[in-house]
Amino acid sequence: MAHTPLMPIPGQIDPVPVAREITPREDGRVDLIGLPRKRIAELFEQAGLDAKQAKLRSRQVYHWLYHRGVSDFEAMTDIAKTMRPWLAERFVIGRPEIVEAQHSTDGTRKWLLRTADGHDFEMVFIPDADRGTLCVSSQVGCTLNCRFCHTGTMRLVRNLTPGEIVGQVMLARDALGEWPKGRMDVAEEEDEAAYSADGRLLTNIVMMGMGEPLYNFDNVRDALKLVMDGDGLALSKRRITLSTSGVVPMMERCGEEIGVNLAVSLHAVTKEIRDEIVPLNRKFGIEELLEACAAYPGASNARRITFEYVMLRDRNDSDEDARELVRLIRKYKLPAKVNLIPFNPWPGAPYECSTPERIKRFSDIVFEAGISAPVRTPRGRDIDAACGQLKTAAEKKSRAELDRLHAEKQASLG
Ligand code: SAH
Ligand code: SF4
Repeated sequence: MAHTPLMPIPGQIDPVPVAREITPREDGRVDLIGLPRKRIAELFEQAGLDAKQAKLRSRQVYHWLYHRGVSDFEAMTDIAKTMRPWLAERFVIGRPEIVEAQHSTDGTRKWLLRTADGHDFEMVFIPDADRGTLCVSSQVGCTLNCRFCHTGTMRLVRNLTPGEIVGQVMLARDALGEWPKGRMDVAEEEDEAAYSADGRLLTNIVMMGMGEPLYNFDNVRDALKLVMDGDGLALSKRRITLSTSGVVPMMERCGEEIGVNLAVSLHAVTKEIRDEIVPLNRKFGIEELLEACAAYPGASNARRITFEYVMLRDRNDSDEDARELVRLIRKYKLPAKVNLIPFNPWPGAPYECSTPERIKRFSDIVFEAGISAPVRTPRGRDIDAACGQLKTAAEKKSRAELDRLHAEKQASLG
């Protein structure tokens, strides 16, 4: 049973998620996963090592943790045998607990995971012929309540810690058997080729699981730094995409401090419709959002911004919408590609998916304007792993109930 104080949704468009430091453990040991090398060195020093030893040991331990994926201090062969129990008494190497692992008929895998303090969240792996993409969660639930998204109906939310975020990638590597096995001394200059030679299946990461990553910016950044570090998980920033529903004030920092590819959940081209389906639009409107996209550090023709567009029947799927989308992309001179996502239904959802003909026509209009507009094939629908279907069983609230709670809250406020 969860015992962390949880944060109820404070409002549909003005969330203030609670950040947390390291999860305190009952046995007093500290989980090292999620901590950067410098912090590990500090902890070693606080535990009694002198500064030089702490620095050396932290470098070794860091490499074993993130680069080699070991989860037992005994496996750290270049650390003295007597030192290993000393470490194990004070520290642990955690992974999120796996509650359930599911396999779709199309090869997609979904894991229901649990934090040390009892909150459930999900992670999805999508294998393709030429790549393997891990869809990582940034929060338990989401505060933003986009009307077409199942995750948005989860009532309680907390931010995931850096350890819980990087822990997902580490768990996926465990499950896929993909830790590099080579020598200890090759880390510094290792490039991607060295990894492919290792037969790596997990090639890409998308921050598109549960939650709004830019409302948990610090933890997402700290986790992705460990993922991108050559001596850490060593995945190139070019293979990582962060998806935001449009948290404008954090976008520049995302480009500057993380530097990953950006995906923006646009979904509509008029204020009226976007206000309805992505309530955050009432706070940060389309123009402001597209200006922030135009200014996104690192965006170029070689590294385009992806605009996600969920196809909702008779809501946002007309020829006129497609033409307006093209006009906006041109107006802001955006290096853009458009990803059309067929709406994935869930019980009680207030929308239907556009017809295949409508989606094709929409795609053609955008494509004829010279902008790539592929239709995303839904994956893992049979195990509820497709976009927007992620929702743990713990918090089942219907859309209607959620709207009612929101209305009550508004009424009580004023
Ligand atoms: N919170 C972030 C990232 C997670 S959602 C964001 O909103 O961008 C990942 C993508 O799935 C988003 O583009 C989201 O709009 C889309 N999505 C949500 N619910 C969906 C559904 N039911 N069908 C199809 N796509 C959906
Ligand atoms: Fe949150 Fe993204 Fe779902 Fe909107 S689409 S509710 S921002 S997870």
